[in-house]
Amino acid sequence: MRTVSRHTAFYDLLDALAKPGCAVCTLVTRTRWRYLDSLAYENVNDPGVRAKLREAHGFCNRHAWYFVEAVREVFGAAIIYRDILHTLQAITAGPPRGIPEPAAQCPACTAEIESGDYAIQTLAEAIDEPDLRSALDRSDGLCAPHLLRAMRALRPALRPAVLETTLARWQEHGGSPDLRVRATGAPGLFSTDRFALATPVGRGPSVRLAATSDPFTCSVCVALRGELERFRSWTSLDDGSGGLCNVHAWMSPGDDCEMVYRRQIATTGEHASALSSAPRPRLRTAMRNLGLGQPEPDSPPPRPCFVCIYQAASEAVLCSQADMPLCIPHLRRALAMRGVGALEAIRPIWHDLDVLLGEYLRKEDYRFRGEPRGIEQKSPRWVVALIAGAPGIR
Ligand SMILES: [Zn+2]
Ligand SMILES: [Zn+2]
Ligand SMILES: [Zn+2]
Ligand SMILES: [Zn+2]
Repeated sequence: MRTVSRHTAFYDLLDALAKPGCAVCTLVTRTRWRYLDSLAYENVNDPGVRAKLREAHGFCNRHAWYFVEAVREVFGAAIIYRDILHTLQAITAGPPRGIPEPAAQCPACTAEIESGDYAIQTLAEAIDEPDLRSALDRSDGLCAPHLLRAMRALRPALRPAVLETTLARWQEHGGSPDLRVRATGAPGLFSTDRFALATPVGRGPSVRLAATSDPFTCSVCVALRGELERFRSWTSLDDGSGGLCNVHAWMSPGDDCEMVYRRQIATTGEHASALSSAPRPRLRTAMRNLGLGQPEPDSPPPRPCFVCIYQAASEAVLCSQADMPLCIPHLRRALAMRGVGALEAIRPIWHDLDVLLGEYLRKEDYRFRGEPRGIEQKSPRWVVALIAGAPGIR
């Protein structure tokens, strides 16, 4: 879905290069806003959009909370997530078999990736144009995640010029402007390290479950956030080899991790150089030329996020003990550890939340606007947290 012409894309890129930080991040940040804002105002009831969201089990954690907190679309979130709740109820009805992984990617993530790849392609193809070249030479260069993305998504002939100019920008701007942006991208633009979160290693830390005050909040999410909030800086978790994901870098303990960012940037430069000369697998190239096949899959970051590693170990401990309710990511882990029988316990909670959401939506109708408001007003945020996890958890 190309909605901008090459011409427009070129001038957008020139503008973005004049701003501080990574130009691709700047353009993707704009896409994220436009995509979710227009979804809020035009497409919440569009059957195609809703079907995509159902396949994806809603937005990812990052976009679900962006939709609620930044776009401020609480009503739209209630409609979308009630639908997802019904989907989850339907696929888990009958003999318990666990919760299948979503069949599709978060549509806002897809929009971001397409927009980032398009910007990278435009940059690579126009890199010898004098206007672009001089804007590039005055810019901060790409961030590390977008440089890696460029080395994977571009055809091999276009990679070296993007690599060389980016590494030159990095060298020239050694200590500034913001190492965190360079190492991890603009705030909120990438998710946690899902590779590190998927496989807990080592002995879990001694984290404890805390009692939660409401009936729809995941107790593992609450305990985890409490645990992570204990840290003033992540450096006490750093064993000297890991990096930080975008989510953890932009939490406040990430303010103080310059050494980590330097290390991450250096390793990314090495990885990008190796990728730059690696041929793309033939079959995938042929498929792409025919317009077939998936976008390039992502791979583990060059340095795994050590906070995500710590989080995964904590989650393993917490999910082995926690009672319901659990959010979907934590429910999946609990079911894997304790058997799918635990699914029975979530069903009445989903049912009660569905009733509250029905009440919330009913009272949004102008005919019932005069009725007093009650706890159903909390149900949109509850359902988002119960499906996508607490903010920043994935
Ligand atoms: Zn970037
Ligand atoms: Zn997403
Ligand atoms: Zn949770
Ligand atoms: Zn992380």
